[in-house]
Amino acid sequence: MKNTTYEVAKSDEYLDKAKKVIPGGIFGHYKYAIRQTGPKFFSRSEGAYFWDIDDNRYVDLMCGYGPSILGYNHPEVEEAFNSSSKQGNTVSLASPVMVDLATKLVDLVDIADWALFGKNGGDATSLAVMIAREFTGKKKIIKIDDGYHGVAPWMQDKNRPGILSSDNDHVLKVKWNDISSLEELLVKDGHDIACFISSPYDHPVSRDNSMPRPEYWKKLTSLCKQYQVVTIVDDVRAGFRINLRGSNVHFGFDPDMICFGKAIANGHPLAALVGIDDLKQSAERVYFTGTQFFSAPPMAAAIATLDELQKVDAPEKLIQYGEKLNKRLVDVAENKGFKLIASGMPSMPYYRLDGVSFETHIKWIDECVKRGVYMLSYHNHFISLAHSEEDLEFIEAAAKQAFEAL
Ligand code: PMP
Repeated sequence: MKNTTYEVAKSDEYLDKAKKVIPGGIFGHYKYAIRQTGPKFFSRSEGAYFWDIDDNRYVDLMCGYGPSILGYNHPEVEEAFNSSSKQGNTVSLASPVMVDLATKLVDLVDIADWALFGKNGGDATSLAVMIAREFTGKKKIIKIDDGYHGVAPWMQDKNRPGILSSDNDHVLKVKWNDISSLEELLVKDGHDIACFISSPYDHPVSRDNSMPRPEYWKKLTSLCKQYQVVTIVDDVRAGFRINLRGSNVHFGFDPDMICFGKAIANGHPLAALVGIDDLKQSAERVYFTGTQFFSAPPMAAAIATLDELQKVDAPEKLIQYGEKLNKRLVDVAENKGFKLIASGMPSMPYYRLDGVSFETHIKWIDECVKRGVYMLSYHNHFISLAHSEEDLEFIEAAAKQAFEAL
């Protein structure tokens, strides 16, 4: 691999253009690309790669922030999407594909007795909380400090622009892995707590990710049961990258509802909420909808995605690949005199350079990006089934040169 770095002049030019017509130029979670010196806009994507508008190719370790689990432009998924599109997209009636997908999820996901659909992960998490409130007649939510569930006001910190402190009135926070604080909250306020919502393990931004302590989830679900608090797993990010039957299966516990999004349709816009039978009537009573919720092609794409994932036992493959990637990067760091920490599930690893400033860590990521490996400094990465052994070689070589450039 030659030690040359990419030019991104067209991306920079387009960013200037974007800033004139889009507040900030790039918004939401994509705006973090602006913090890095790399590409800002893509021109095409295929398998494990995307090309920026300057025509540089990147091995994509972000996978669109998770959706691309089979790789971009997967033939079976695109075929399912396209043939469903020919029959109709958003039509004035629901498509039977919706029923087929709900059936598929009920068969696949251990705890699922029913499924409802939305477009984004935040649809599923908001709906889950409404159902829990309707079911229990209680109002408060317990969430993990720093736990991310989307952008609805109750999910955001009260100090953020546009958020009222009253939006958080009924949101209580506990630290990850802290059962005794959770128990204290339940003893004090359990009579008014509708639900506990959390990702299956802690994957905050700009911090090492952390696994549940042994027995954490078992103790937690049994306490919640005792206080009639509904347990909701937010599997929007980790869903289908740990266990196809629900990430909770890997950690040995049963929640009452699971929220899915991101990878469910390999990049086509779809989210799902699944739950246990006891909550079905409450789920029926809650009013939650959207103009685009009934679009059939993303649902057809989801069936094809889940079929493909099942065929190859995807989570195991993704985890194995992630383990190999982690080892190569950690070893390459060590050879160059650095200590790289890889945390979280290997199928979606977070990397951090230890013992140096965060700026140095950002610089290392930047140098990897400049050499064709798309990574982010603050967020966990994602592996897809399209990532190959050859890509491992490429990533390792780029990472090595990036350390040399520090
Ligand atoms: N929950 C988790 C754990 C997430 O990672 C995200 C998205 N990053 C969401 C919920 C919200 O999903 P969306 O952005 O699709 O609304």
